[in-house]
Amino acid sequence: MTIKISDVSFKIGKQKRIALIAHDGKKDDMVKWADKNKDILKNHFLCGTGTTARIISDKTGLPVKAFNSGPLGGDQQIGARIVEGSVDFVVFLWDPLESQPHDPDVKALLRIAVVYNIPIANNIATADFLLNSAYMNEEYDRKLDNIEKHLANRMELKSEDFRN
Ligand code: PGA
Repeated sequence: MTIKISDVSFKIGKQKRIALIAHDGKKDDMVKWADKNKDILKNHFLCGTGTTARIISDKTGLPVKAFNSGPLGGDQQIGARIVEGSVDFVVFLWDPLESQPHDPDVKALLRIAVVYNIPIANNIATADFLLNSAYMNEEYDRKLDNIEKHLANRMELKSEDFRN
């Protein structure tokens, strides 16, 4: 049996499912950005790591579904949503000048976003460019060729390969 990822829909709809994450040193920037872009963001589904989501909701009035706080697994929850196909756009303002207790989770989220070809902004300038892209008002087909190739290679491995 061949698994064809292309049979599965990885379309990013007109309404984006956006995850918002900001490390403590970047939370002010995130709130200012979200407030400035409220009129665009209100047309999309928003979620985020616990503290980031709550601060954005409080300061801007935008509805943001909160996962756990980042250091308590919130980044992993968002990564899992990417794998399941229920998050398709990420703004992740990670702080390059502070170390984080959950650095492995941060790396895992950054990695899985690339694996699944998710638009991801890691600074305000990129977030501004993304949010003002023509694709924000259109559907977009995420190409997952690398995943398809990976799966095809795995399926070719015979069980004997693992016997010795
Ligand atoms: P927080 O998590 O929104 O709960 O602060 C963000 C993070 O540090 O990943």
